[in-house]
This record gives sequence, structure tokens and C-alpha cells, in this order.
Amino acid sequence: MTAQIIDGKVSAAQLRSRVAGHVAWLKKDHGITPGLAVVLVGADPASEVYVRNKGRQTIEAGMRSLEYKLPTETSQADLLTLIERLNADPEIHGILVQLPLPKHLNADLVINAIDPAKDVDGFHVTNVGLLGTGQNAMVPCTPLGCLMMLRGHLGDLSGLEAVVVGRSNIVGKPMAQLLLGDNCTVTIAHSRTRDLASICRRADILVAAVGRPEMIPGDWVKPGATVIDVGINRIAQDGKQHLVGDVDFSSAAEIAGTITPVPGGVGPMTIASLLANTVTACCRAHGLQAPEGLAV
Ligand code: NAP
Repeated sequence: MTAQIIDGKVSAAQLRSRVAGHVAWLKKDHGITPGLAVVLVGADPASEVYVRNKGRQTIEAGMRSLEYKLPTETSQADLLTLIERLNADPEIHGILVQLPLPKHLNADLVINAIDPAKDVDGFHVTNVGLLGTGQNAMVPCTPLGCLMMLRGHLGDLSGLEAVVVGRSNIVGKPMAQLLLGDNCTVTIAHSRTRDLASICRRADILVAAVGRPEMIPGDWVKPGATVIDVGINRIAQDGKQHLVGDVDFSSAAEIAGTITPVPGGVGPMTIASLLANTVTACCRAHGLQAPEGLAV
């Protein structure tokens, strides 16, 4: 293997420590404690783990963590009433509704009911529009974490050719907007893209956000490229469950200059970015300068 590994656990620990520093400053100099409310509807086991981890890391960073666990059969009206209450609460600076929601709830309606200034997931249409027009948005956590890792390892991204494979609203599209904002030349590829291999081969920065195990082999990677693997896929091997990315790590690591592993790459940065977004939202709510290094 020749590629340098971007250790997401180290990057996330550094980001969490910057967040904790800003939280301490907000408390000491301004008497403010950032507060994050996480709403979980239903009992999806993976979501419960995420919510628990978010709560723990929020408290470790010195912030207030509020968890609202609602039964699966919660009505849309009751959920919207809770969101209204959280929107109006001055001690809550960030609101996150854990997705996916049970089928009877309209996720778009629920997300767009969150005050955009408190929408720390960055999914509200207002934040999508602000990001697209280069204004002060709340940026979705996973692409924000990817951008921080890219900047940390490459410095200035200006002029680089970036290919994002995947066009979801939570990863692919905002990732492409962020790379464009950093002056990359960006291509977004998806399931209808023709000759994906040759498009990937021209990428200085290749971001894979597909959800298909090890779909991108090493010979799709440009020599020396930076590969960010967002995919989290569970596969069974030798009677055990393994996590793998969308990139075939072993072959890609022979060709790439830098690569994120799965697990231990993009994943750990996502919650750290959520904490960073909560501090950013808190600063903006209080008319304070958003801290350096936590937002784009
Ligand atoms: P998604 O909503 O399912 O979107 C997948 C995208 O991949 C779609 O745009 C789809 O194209 C495209 N695609 C599917 N098959 C393809 C193919 N054969 N060739 C090219 N493109 C193809 O998934 P997502 O929510 O963006 O998540 C993507 C992956 O990232 C998943 O593995 C997910 O678990 C992981 N993820 C990780 C984190 C983290 O914290 N690390 C956070 C979020 C997601 P179409 O639009 O044409 O269908």
C-alpha cells in the first residue's frame, strides 16, 4: 500500500477539541451554553445508537444535550408541535430530527418546520439555498466533515478536478456545492452516468457516496488522487459481518495518494461536525462571530 491514510478518528478528535474550546469560551466570556436537541421517533436500533453517541459527545464537549424519544405512532401534528416548541426555546441552538422517520410521517415537512437557524443537519430548503448561493448556511454534517479533511490534507483545493459519485440531498449534492465553493471543477456522477470509470479516473479528488460495497476499484482511481469514501456497507464474510466502503480499499490504496478507510474515515467526522454546527448556530443566534475552523 502506498497511499497515505486520513485517520478520521484523529481528525474528529481534533475537531471535537476545537469545539470544546469554543464551548468553554462561550460559557466563560458570554455565559452561554450551546444546546442541542435530538428528536428520535420510533425504535430503529441503528438510530438509537447514533442518538446515544450524539448525546454522549455533546455532553463531553461541554454542551447541553436534550433527547426527545417519541413512540413510533407519534402523529405528524404532535411532532410539529414539539418542533415549534424547540424553535421557540432560546436555550436550544440546534435541532436534529433523526432520519429515517416512520413511514406515516412526511420527512420533508418535518425538516422544513425546523427554524433554519437551528437546522444543524443543514437539510432545510433555506439552508440548501444558502449553500447553493454561497451564503452563510448550516452545512450538512457528513460533507462538512469531508471538506474539513480535504482542506486539512490538501490545503487549497482551488482548480482541482473533483468527482462526486452519488447525488443524494444529504451527501452528494451538498458535497459538490462545497467543492465548488472551494473552487474545484466538479462533476456529479450517479446511477445513469455513462462510463463512470473514465470520469472517476480524471478526479484529483474522488468522493464516493453510493452505498454499494467496494464498487469503485483501484483502476478507476487517478494515480496520486485523494479518495474520500463516504460509503458504509455491511457485508458478510467468513461468517462475520464487516463494514466496507464504496471503494475497494486494498486496490485503491495502491494507486491513490491519500485515502479514507472504512471504518475510521468519514464516519467519526460526522458527529464531530454536528457539534461544530451547534456551536456555529449558537454563535450566530447570539450575534457572535462564528468561530474559525468550525464552519465553511
Ligand atoms: P443514497 O441516498 O442511496 O444515494 C446514493 C447515490 O448513489 C444516488 O445518487 C445514486 O444515483 C448513486 N448510485 C447508486 N448506484 C450507482 C451506480 N451503480 N453508479 C453510480 N452511482 C450510483 O445514499 P446516501 O444517503 O447518499 O449515502 C451513500 C452512502 O454513504 C451509503 O453507504 C451511506 O450509508 C453512507 N453514508 C455515510 C455517512 C457517514 O457518516 N459516513 C453519512 C451518510 C451516508 P441515483 O440518484 O441515480 O439513484
